Amino acid sequence: MSLKDKVRDAGVAGCGGAGFPTAVKLGGTYEYLIVNGVECEPLLRTDRYIMRTFADRIVSAVSAVQKELAIPNAVIALKHNYTEEIESLEKAIKKAGASIAIHQLESFYPAGDEQTLVYEVTGRIVPPLGIPGKVGAVVDNVGTMLAIQDALEDKPFTHKYLTVNGDVAKPAVLRVPVGTSFAKCLELAGGTLNDQFVLVSGGPAMGRIIKQEDLEKEFVTKTTSGILVLPADGYHAGYADMKVLHMLSRARSACIQCSFCTQLCPRALLGHPLHPHKVMRRMAVSADIPSVLDDPEIQGAQLCCECGVCEIYACPMGLQPRRINGLIKREMAARKMRLNIGDTELKPDAEREMRKAPSKKLAGRMGLAPYYDADIKAFVEYQAEEVSIPLKMTVGAPCVPCVKAGDMVKTGDVIAQVPENALGARIHASIDGRVSAVDDKISIVKE
Ligand code: SF4
Ligand code: SF4
Repeated sequence: MSLKDKVRDAGVAGCGGAGFPTAVKLGGTYEYLIVNGVECEPLLRTDRYIMRTFADRIVSAVSAVQKELAIPNAVIALKHNYTEEIESLEKAIKKAGASIAIHQLESFYPAGDEQTLVYEVTGRIVPPLGIPGKVGAVVDNVGTMLAIQDALEDKPFTHKYLTVNGDVAKPAVLRVPVGTSFAKCLELAGGTLNDQFVLVSGGPAMGRIIKQEDLEKEFVTKTTSGILVLPADGYHAGYADMKVLHMLSRARSACIQCSFCTQLCPRALLGHPLHPHKVMRRMAVSADIPSVLDDPEIQGAQLCCECGVCEIYACPMGLQPRRINGLIKREMAARKMRLNIGDTELKPDAEREMRKAPSKKLAGRMGLAPYYDADIKAFVEYQAEEVSIPLKMTVGAPCVPCVKAGDMVKTGDVIAQVPENALGARIHASIDGRVSAVDDKISIVKE
């Protein structure tokens, strides 16, 4: 069986972002295989743990992918201050005699953004709305590489590494079965320190904010990279409560057109035609989003990766260009609109180097300075008694269950398949037990 088939059968999906099914990427022709170990979201430590602990397995997977796809250049990219991780990887590369380079980046955000990373490593600019393959690169996260190595050993994707950080007694990296409840993960990290809090699933800049009352509805998926417990009166709590109308009326009354949002936007700095200050200007004099969708500047919002630099770091007025861009993007998607890029020459901004957002400062703007330097060395491996595995965990269609309530399953059994001709990653049981319910999740209870 080919590496691609093994990866597809194991249900591997990207561990670092939205969860793109990995097998789909393993079919092209590339000059660069870039392995993303940057982990640019403050407070997460998952990828660092993986690189320190499984350097040999990562190197083995990188070499296998490199060989299978005949990719001339393989690069593991990470931050220059990840000294232990660099050491582990260098040793593993030497031991294996592998032809893999290590690329060290400064500590800026979003260094791990796919398009930023491709430029940093190759000097090539991924075209707007394009994918790295357009410039001969394929990017995969270090966690994905570990899952690929498992797949090569016929072990399906059933467990997830994630960081639990913030206001918990014992911040830790966990390894839990997919479908473990967030509540259990908080317990494994010693419990929360405060009665009132908000949660973030993922990193603090781009993660999904979850209100405390919704904690019970949340389960670990193939893409959960972290769970953060943050203050109930902090930046994230205020952000979650902000209403669209309020954001738009503040944009109308308070945007001073300083253009810092555009000057510091990582996509604009790569030369992409995205100008959040112009979007804000137009929105300030517009009744609603649908009425301005014919404006090419407004359409440029489709190029926004929603990294949040503009509103977390750049805007002196505390406005929300990212959220407004997000609304425009979703409105365009609903209408099947696509920005017409034309033949614009792509040239990075001459001041790009000076305008990178330092990670520590960005974290400070979100009130996260107290957690920023946490040296998380604790690791917890958990054997769950019950799991609820969502049918939609990755990019593409929700999977279709192939088990029913009452069925007995073993860890690794296929329990849901990708619909025919659809994009997705199949799902395997993450514990042994009896299927107790099938709805938008498959619940399994140990017996
Ligand atoms: S969120 Fe803001 S800074 Fe980030 S890409 Fe979008 S407009 Fe640019
Ligand atoms: S940084 Fe803020 S105030 Fe300045 S142009 Fe952008 S949205 Fe307006």
